[in-house]
Amino acid sequence: MKGTAIYPGTFDPVTRGHIDICQRALKMFDHVVIGVADSPAKEPFFDINERFDMLEMVFDDNDHISVKPFSGLLIDFARDCDADVIIRGLRAISDFEYEVQLAGMNRSLAPEIETIFLTAAQRYAFVSSSLVREIARLDGDVSEFLHPEILHRLTTKLQSLK
Ligand code: ADP
Repeated sequence: MKGTAIYPGTFDPVTRGHIDICQRALKMFDHVVIGVADSPAKEPFFDINERFDMLEMVFDDNDHISVKPFSGLLIDFARDCDADVIIRGLRAISDFEYEVQLAGMNRSLAPEIETIFLTAAQRYAFVSSSLVREIARLDGDVSEFLHPEILHRLTTKLQSLK
């Protein structure tokens, strides 16, 4: 497959699970646009600028990946990016119900846009931003799941709040 796909999420912060999904998506698409959702309802730990900066830093050396913030409807963001595919990651069955609902709703709003689900490597199958934040907050070692600079930013921010 050629063309552009979007990979939307909150990325609070980006984990090696997200990075793995992006790298897999690039085997199928020329270009992946990572859409950083504002997600005010989730009350993110990092604000949108911090989350955007971290993604830009992680993918700085990859010309096939760009990072853009968005706050409106996902299908409008996909259309703005000239993308007709949305990439989402699946971990456990628990992701499945919500993700299928979301894909169904997006298809009803924009029938020309497809959702493709990818799974990350087994070692990241249980990694989520929220769990990584929680373990780091309790001084657990999450270095396996984060880019070193992301780990640094997370620990620095946690320290500043203590
Ligand atoms: P959202 O708020 O949209 O769920 P996230 O940043 O939590 O945003 O996740 C973005 C996407 O990446 C979602 O489809 C999520 O299921 C997927 N994802 C997150 N972590 C992993 C992982 N470790 N393996 C596979 N997919 C993942």
